Amino acid sequence: MKVPFLNFAPVHNAIKLEIQNTFERVYDSNWYIMGKELSEFEEMYSEFNDTNFTIGVSNGLDALHLALIALGIGEGDEIIVPSNTYIATALAASFVGAIPVFVEPNIDTYNINPLNIEKAITSKTKAIMPVHLYGQACEMDEIMRIAKENNLFVIEDNAQAHGATFKGKMTGSWGDANGTSFYPGKNLGALGDGGAVTTNSDTIAKKIKMYRNYGSEIKYENKVIGHNMRLDELQAAFLKLKLNYINSWTDQRKELALLYNEQLVGINEIILPKIHPDSSHVFHLYVIRLEKREKLQKYLNDNGIGTLIHYPIPPHLQKAYAHLGYKKGDFPIAEEIANTSLSLPLWPGMSKDDLLSVTNCIKDFFETYS
Ligand SMILES: *Cc1c(COP(=O)(O)O)cnc(C)c1O
Repeated sequence: MKVPFLNFAPVHNAIKLEIQNTFERVYDSNWYIMGKELSEFEEMYSEFNDTNFTIGVSNGLDALHLALIALGIGEGDEIIVPSNTYIATALAASFVGAIPVFVEPNIDTYNINPLNIEKAITSKTKAIMPVHLYGQACEMDEIMRIAKENNLFVIEDNAQAHGATFKGKMTGSWGDANGTSFYPGKNLGALGDGGAVTTNSDTIAKKIKMYRNYGSEIKYENKVIGHNMRLDELQAAFLKLKLNYINSWTDQRKELALLYNEQLVGINEIILPKIHPDSSHVFHLYVIRLEKREKLQKYLNDNGIGTLIHYPIPPHLQKAYAHLGYKKGDFPIAEEIANTSLSLPLWPGMSKDDLLSVTNCIKDFFETYS
């Protein structure tokens, strides 16, 4: 049986009529940018995420960028980011002229290790950007303590963890200003690009609203040199609709992850996802690690099963960051994760049969090669 890496069909078929009605409503409203769909979505997302404010923006990268602008971070400042993150986190730092300072993750959770954060702080450090990688919440209490003691801002990258919690408190509600993404493949995905900043600060929310809209609060009056980084009415309306289902989709992700664990736990060569006792994990991705990663990926591919690697090249080894002067071996944990991790197929509505095809194929592989 062929199993793709990701399949939107079960979710999108189930809500197709509602989506079509939503499209018609927005279409007929003749209002497409900065209207009531956006403000209603922002209110709904704030409620979902337990934050005072949500500011819908163009995408996740712009959300992180706007958060840094609003906090006044700029030229020459240092921002601590995990060494194994998706490039966007580091890029946001670069966009404001700051320097991303990479810090190694915990090899069990793949999230930034608070013990390593303290060692990386210098007189230039202005902020910490934890990333709730693959859907698991970072150790936010320790991160907030370190930030407070050293007078640093915290900007959570919550692109992969809608609805995750640490000690019961939502990711995206801890930091000073937090970015999230509604890229179609994320747990809450638009039908195009989208993102949001979440914050509890009225002042920061106002700044972000201004910077996302040409630096303007009153039409044709421009206070600062702003951007066009708005979330449009159609995407906001689709997101509003999909937000009604997110908890049920998350439950399905968790159930599928449990089933993967059950099926794979007997294979000694595979490292299964580990969850910090105080974190919840919303399984944006189900990531295993193994030495024979290339061989298994090829075997699965030859048998019609799609997988991906998140991520094959850590930011410090990307050409884009060659000027920072890092080399292979500088961040061994990030490199180990890049070299051994494999993301297995997972989506809400994935059938048990699909999942068992994946795990049976993995079992066949180990019977053949061990
Ligand atoms: C997807 C993602 C982003 C960027 O989101 P876009 O909407 O694609 O710009 C940022 N950080 C992480 C960790 C992501 O997974």
